[in-house]
Amino acid sequence: MNATNMSSETNQNSPNTYNYIIAGGGMAGLSLAFFLNQSSLKDKSILIIDRDEKNTNDHTWCFWEKERSPYEEIITQKWKGVWFHGTNNFSKLLDLQDYTYKMIRGIDFYNYVIPILKQNLKITFLQADISEVVGCELVKYGKFKKEIKDELAIVKTNKGDFFATDIIFDSSYRSKYDNPKHHNMLQHFKGWVIETKNPTFKVDEPTLFDFRIEQKNELRFVYVLPHSETKALIEFTLFSDNLITDAEYEFYLKKYIEETLMVGDCHIKSDEYQISETEFGIVPMSDEPHEVFPMHKVIRIGTSGGYVKASTGYSFQRSQRFLQRLVKSLEANKTVGNGINANRWKGFLDTVLLNVMLKNRTPQDEIFTRLFKYNSPIKVLKFLDEDTSFFEDIALVNTVPKPPFIRAAWDVLMKKIF
Ligand SMILES: Cc1cc2nc3c(=O)[nH]c(=O)nc-3n(C[C@H](O)[C@H](O)[C@H](O)COP(=O)(O)OP(=O)(O)OC[C@H]3O[C@@H](n4cnc5c(N)ncnc54)[C@H](O)[C@@H]3O)c2cc1C
Repeated sequence: MNATNMSSETNQNSPNTYNYIIAGGGMAGLSLAFFLNQSSLKDKSILIIDRDEKNTNDHTWCFWEKERSPYEEIITQKWKGVWFHGTNNFSKLLDLQDYTYKMIRGIDFYNYVIPILKQNLKITFLQADISEVVGCELVKYGKFKKEIKDELAIVKTNKGDFFATDIIFDSSYRSKYDNPKHHNMLQHFKGWVIETKNPTFKVDEPTLFDFRIEQKNELRFVYVLPHSETKALIEFTLFSDNLITDAEYEFYLKKYIEETLMVGDCHIKSDEYQISETEFGIVPMSDEPHEVFPMHKVIRIGTSGGYVKASTGYSFQRSQRFLQRLVKSLEANKTVGNGINANRWKGFLDTVLLNVMLKNRTPQDEIFTRLFKYNSPIKVLKFLDEDTSFFEDIALVNTVPKPPFIRAAWDVLMKKIF
């Protein structure tokens, strides 16, 4: 068994038994462990199980915030302004004022968080394949359902079974997102880190959205995150219900680099850059309700727990917020929510936007262009963070084309009723 730090009290008393098991030690699992380790719960024994060693740069996470990040030391780049290139030649360097747009590389996150967690002898890491997460039974005693005393929740793996006395936090589960009553689409993307022969990028000026590419009746954009004057991540992103072939992602990346990206007045030629890293991802964009508490003593977190914002696919910053709330409620011994504020109004807005996009009711690049053209970027970022008030939401929604949104809202309401 490839487990380290096997020294907690619980382990000594009954092998393979922990207070908490974190099934899936990726972004959400490690963030949760990071916050638990800083809390009054740091003496709980915790087992973190993941199939991967977490020694590759498998993600680049970007997010915006006003505050200091819990991971401030490993932020690779920070920006106070971002480019937006929309439809009808609308291009603007947006001033983020008190927000900062930040980038963390996955490998830096793993190399920072894991060694900190390993210093706590109550935290154990196990590299294994999880086959099943089994919660506890609640048995009816008279009127009420009650827990069977001392029953343990189980994570089954190819290296044996592991038991949790308190909770299993599961980020390894993946929903199917196939319920036709809901809106299900995908955010999928391929990115290249390219290195150029000559200084090409302005380090202080990333591109948040570049819609100046063929849309093909979907939402397609590129973002550019400069690491230095000669190195940047270029990511080709689509919101759609179908994936495309690898060759197609690469075709559009190459086309963007060689035909849209400019160095002064010139384009970059194919022999003037090299690809040093690649990144690929698929993120669900869905309004399907997530079963956050599928069984007693099991809580789904991260993508499994519905932390991804349905209409944008962002989840890094939301996960940090939700997981900090989750730890606070665990500390206070309160009935544990999953940390999400289930705001029905915000959920409705997400669903309406998904409906507009899935039914292609209006050119989608135009929606984003109008949002950023007619509102301050701060308002839009606040809106995407779900921090705006009802009246601010109405003011923002007022700037996008109304008929398609009214039709979508009607469709959503009818679906809910019938
Ligand atoms: C390439 C990429 C870039 C992204 N960029 C951004 C971004 O810039 N900003 C943003 O807000 N969001 C971004 N996202 C969305 C989101 O933040 C990430 O998907 C994030 O990693 C989700 O965290 P998670 O913990 O739910 O999933 P993960 O980080 O994928 O963690 C799940 C873990 O479970 C493990 N696992 C799964 N099944 C098993 C099993 N059966 N046995 C053992 N282990 C298992 C996996 O190995 C993994 O480590 C990105 C997503 C991807 C894929």
